Amino acid sequence: MALNKFKSAVKQQMLKARHYYDARLGGSCLMLLYHRVADLQTDPQQLAVHPQLFNEQMLFLKLNYNVLSIDEVAWHLNTKTKLPDKSVVISFDDGYADNYLEALPILELHHLPAVFYIATATLDTNAEFWWDEMERLLLLSKLPDTAQFEMHGLKLDLNDFEINRYKKYETVLPILRKTAPEQRQEIINALQQIFGNKTRATHRALTHYELRQFAKSKYVTIGAHTHNHPSLAALDYNLQLLEVEISKKILEDLLKQRIQHFSYPFGTKQDYNTNTLTICNQLQFKSVAANYPYIIHKNSDIFQLPRFLVRNWQLTAFKQQLHFFTTCR
Ligand SMILES: [Zn+2]
Repeated sequence: MALNKFKSAVKQQMLKARHYYDARLGGSCLMLLYHRVADLQTDPQQLAVHPQLFNEQMLFLKLNYNVLSIDEVAWHLNTKTKLPDKSVVISFDDGYADNYLEALPILELHHLPAVFYIATATLDTNAEFWWDEMERLLLLSKLPDTAQFEMHGLKLDLNDFEINRYKKYETVLPILRKTAPEQRQEIINALQQIFGNKTRATHRALTHYELRQFAKSKYVTIGAHTHNHPSLAALDYNLQLLEVEISKKILEDLLKQRIQHFSYPFGTKQDYNTNTLTICNQLQFKSVAANYPYIIHKNSDIFQLPRFLVRNWQLTAFKQQLHFFTTCR
């Protein structure tokens, strides 16, 4: 037992040394993960960065970092050439309308490229993304008359709802994350019957028109992000394939361009598996982004690019976090 522990510790140290060596000689890159640029009244998932703060963050990156496009990063990894010093790639997940309306003008102002991974089911609809819908229904809506809710294994006692609503919202999210898209939609439809279905314009996704305009910018690369934003690891191979393939095809048909980049919904190592990697390979993506904090270096797996989540940070905190990110190797 002790020997195994020792071997594992040595292996960890060697791995660390290799990453450090790779990063020193082959350069390294931080991939930043944003979702929204918006000024929201409530944001329980902390997805939004205020437009003014986003502008300050982008100006800082422009003056202090080499901001690369995702194609440049993919090229460096494929050719095993040194990544430029202090390089960063900016990425957005999901496809909120504010990516086009708020983020793009700021990126264009500073001449910075970014990749936007779009989940396609909500495009051109009034529907909110399902996690936003849960916030609206369970945290912000009026109390329902119904006492109990049960569907597809999700049970909600609505009797003591007022005092425990945040707790209930917190327990529902991980369950829905692993619920197959069709059943999840049935749950949402049923909850809308109870709580009301007036969705918020502030939380809408891009329209088709906006997405087409968006993709014309030379600073924008569009990637896929599945159709219904499930945790892919919870689905069997065929459902996973359907989710990834449909989103790729919808975007390609809409934009008349090949979609070569993808990001896993949620993106932690529990949210995708070997089936997902096989599918991404089959569909010939050039790069795939995940969501766990680590630097990218020349030997990084191009199908599991690590990313750092950016929150609604003031510039001082943003600088500190960037400094901290560079030590994650
Ligand atoms: Zn997402």
